[in-house]
Amino acid sequence: MNIDVFRIKKDVSAVQMYHFSVSSLSTGTVTYADLDISGKILNDGAILEVTGQILGEARFVCGRCLEPYLAKVEIPFQANFKEGLPESDQEADMSWFQGDSIDIAETVRESLILAEPFKQVCRQECRGLCPICGKNLNMEICTCTTETINPKFAVLQKLLEPKNPTQS
Ligand SMILES: [Zn+2]
Ligand SMILES: [Zn+2]
Repeated sequence: MNIDVFRIKKDVSAVQMYHFSVSSLSTGTVTYADLDISGKILNDGAILEVTGQILGEARFVCGRCLEPYLAKVEIPFQANFKEGLPESDQEADMSWFQGDSIDIAETVRESLILAEPFKQVCRQECRGLCPICGKNLNMEICTCTTETINPKFAVLQKLLEPKNPTQS
């Protein structure tokens, strides 16, 4: 995702627009489709400030039922580019470029990764998989969940439950 900055880098306070369409992109954990990446570059004198947003569709995998599902994403991003070679660790959040173009691919990739939900769930009411038989409880009801538990262990079972809906 290279942007030609030959003109803007010489022109303080100038603004340049950019736009990319990416049919498919993977961050390693999530695959994205039909990405629309657009925004502007501002030359503020010392740096080129790139702002923009990523619109598109993410193919997540549900952490409960393990089924893939699609979700719309809208992710804003911002990055500062400076011409030259990295000078010191103090400017670790600075992106560097040489020549007449900047590459925002890494910025886009990092922004996508940062916005990825820690726990992806296809929908709030997803019932997940049966821990006993492994059936997807959104699709079918198994008999495992109706099994009676020995009352002696029922109390213990309740204590061990990670998410007790009666507790807030
Ligand atoms: Zn699910
Ligand atoms: Zn089951």
